[in-house]
Amino acid sequence: MTDMDSIHDKFDRSHLWHPYTSTHDPLPTYKVDHAEGAVITLADGTELIDGMSSWWCVIHGYNHPVLNEALKTQIDKMSHVMFGGFTHQPAIDLGKLLLSILPPSMNHIFYADSGSVATEVAMKMAVQACDNPAKTNFATIRSGYHGDTWNAMSVCDPVTGMHGAFGPALPVRHFAPAPQCRFGEEWNPEDFRPMLEILEENAATLAGVILEPIVQGAGGMRFYHPQYLRELRQTCDRLGILLIFDEIATGFGRTGKLFAWEHAGVEPDIMLIGKAVTGGYMTFAAVAASANVADRISASQSGCMMHGPTFMGNPLACAVALASTRLLLQSDWQKRIHRIEEIMRDKLSIAKNWKSVDDVRILGGIGVIQLKDNVNLGVFQKKCVREGVWIRPFGKNAYIMPPYLAVSDTQVEKLCDALLKIIAEMYGNDSI
Ligand SMILES: *Cc1c(COP(=O)(O)O)cnc(C)c1O
Repeated sequence: MTDMDSIHDKFDRSHLWHPYTSTHDPLPTYKVDHAEGAVITLADGTELIDGMSSWWCVIHGYNHPVLNEALKTQIDKMSHVMFGGFTHQPAIDLGKLLLSILPPSMNHIFYADSGSVATEVAMKMAVQACDNPAKTNFATIRSGYHGDTWNAMSVCDPVTGMHGAFGPALPVRHFAPAPQCRFGEEWNPEDFRPMLEILEENAATLAGVILEPIVQGAGGMRFYHPQYLRELRQTCDRLGILLIFDEIATGFGRTGKLFAWEHAGVEPDIMLIGKAVTGGYMTFAAVAASANVADRISASQSGCMMHGPTFMGNPLACAVALASTRLLLQSDWQKRIHRIEEIMRDKLSIAKNWKSVDDVRILGGIGVIQLKDNVNLGVFQKKCVREGVWIRPFGKNAYIMPPYLAVSDTQVEKLCDALLKIIAEMYGNDSI
């Protein structure tokens, strides 16, 4: 067996679906043997510094002794028990801890199976809270991402999202342009006008507005001005529209605050968390709602929230989420993220002057180089493996989101150097 055979599996290539790649000529996959801290080791022994936190969730790094222990302890008690009619200590302790760190107005928690399901649940909550057959639609902003299930797709960016493939099968939502005023720059009140117009014109049919606060993740890696959220909160209150913040990507410290709403200081009616909630150990998410939303749903015709998945409140997921969140809160996470932000700013800013680059953006534990062209993913990842790093761009965005509580300064520097080197090789580093 050559090295290549050991990291690219033939059966996998012929029979397993991987995210967003064709079965005809799939992009290569690399077989991972194990991972520890911020390092992923391939089947042939190649070590890669993780720049992705496995799609932004593995904040403590891999194979963490505290998280391993939490799962082992729970597995010896029970791996699962139905949440209908039963409850258990991990669910209760996690609920208490989450309510102590979520926006103060959040009062009820719904445990969901994944981020996409959390989006479905949040949208169902908004519709049920309105309890009015005329008020069932949603508004959002372009360049958003809320997951891959049906309703989640309907509020994803209509161009970079999946509207092309599903078109008429999707409910039609109202899209305002993505906010143009950038985080940390000046606010222009005109930025909110298109959303204001949509909300004023459609208030009678809108149950809610859903968006990612401050950082738009998988829909474009954009960072926008907090004032947009303040205007939105005011307008939603005035017009009787519920406000939903999707913090699945931004939660648990990633943007430099524990949750991104804190940058703006305005609270949503419904808030979604996921991804980093279990430190990347298990699929899990949660939807938090204000007492007002919960009361309105319970006073509605159906009398209860109409969702109750088989694996709701799974004890293993709750136990590891509890351990992960405690570990985060005990750590010096804010200082660590600021240091990583500093390193990425020092290292990546140089690419602002490259002809091949459109924009460089850094916030908290997120460093983005937006290229002029779409990245050739297959070639890019091959070079990553050669450089000993793991970075997975999408569209024009090549970005680093390292496991902030596991990477060393040196590892962050190596990630930045490798990213710059690969972009220079593939697209050039001539100055403007
Ligand atoms: C990843 C993500 C989701 C979907 O979560 P899954 O667990 O992949 O279903 C939803 N919203 C945002 C903002 C995300 O980043």
